[in-house]
Amino acid sequence: MVLKSYAKLNLYLSIRQKRKDNYHNLDTLFERIDLCDIITLGNRQDSLIRITCENRDVPTDASNLCYQAARLIQKQCTIKRGVDIRIDKNIPVGSGLGGGSSNAATVLMGLNQLWKLGLPRRTLCNFAKEIGSDVSFFIHNIPFARGRGRGEKIEPLQQLSRLRLWHVLIVPKLHLRTPFIYRKWDEFTKKNKKARLTRQTLNVRILISLLKKEKLRDLTGLLFNELEQVVFLNYPQLRGIKELLIHSGLDVALMSGSGGTIFGITSSKKEAIAAIKSLNVKGRPWQIFLTRTI
Ligand code: ATP
Repeated sequence: MVLKSYAKLNLYLSIRQKRKDNYHNLDTLFERIDLCDIITLGNRQDSLIRITCENRDVPTDASNLCYQAARLIQKQCTIKRGVDIRIDKNIPVGSGLGGGSSNAATVLMGLNQLWKLGLPRRTLCNFAKEIGSDVSFFIHNIPFARGRGRGEKIEPLQQLSRLRLWHVLIVPKLHLRTPFIYRKWDEFTKKNKKARLTRQTLNVRILISLLKKEKLRDLTGLLFNELEQVVFLNYPQLRGIKELLIHSGLDVALMSGSGGTIFGITSSKKEAIAAIKSLNVKGRPWQIFLTRTI
């Protein structure tokens, strides 16, 4: 069984209070994009779960999120069968594009089919929450959704189901670890209590209604990622990339998740290609992608 495992962008990310379990409550807007990994699932004769991936940044042991997804299904559904999982990576690792979470969701949905388990979406979402905060979004199989709680409480945005945005993604050769960025965020907000109190409280509903009308130029100031300030303090080159993207003729630019991907938005492929041409990408320590909503 060969499956596509798509990446995500966050068009909005606001951090609410820190929880007793040390996670942070979030309010976020997810978008699914057509940059994808390929996951191949094959039944085994024994009960083992074997992961193969040529990308050295991806673990192939029990810490791989695909392994955790398969193990959870085996345990919860008392399955004796094993599976070979091959991951062909195109989504840069540790870049805020949710590759690992998406792979886990693809394995949950794929094994549900391969092993003919007939599990409803609700059950798969409960499994997803145990694996990671972003996994539930991918189970919903929709282009746009709002995420709350740790990001796992998903509200599908049906009003945006026809919207297709074009993106230029710049992925610097940095591996940003999400727990490290949140630790930096906690330190930053402790030191800058005032900044925290006067932080932007933006209305995500206005953002959604402007997206629906495709008023992309009006999105400046509404597209928002609260982690940008701490990430830019620690990696100032990312602020430079954001400015470069804005000057390349795209409507708006933002960092995705806990970084370091910076993406620009436009409604036409032509504009996205022109922006890529105007960026002087030769010799830069980046990867660059042209993607769209899917
Ligand atoms: P996060 O969900 O933490 O924001 P991200 O999108 O920034 O993640 P991922 O590409 O999902 O980054 O990788 C995060 C970490 O998860 C990596 O350091 C990697 O070691 C680990 N990992 C586990 N399973 C996978 C997988 N299937 N694909 C990629 N990374 C994985």
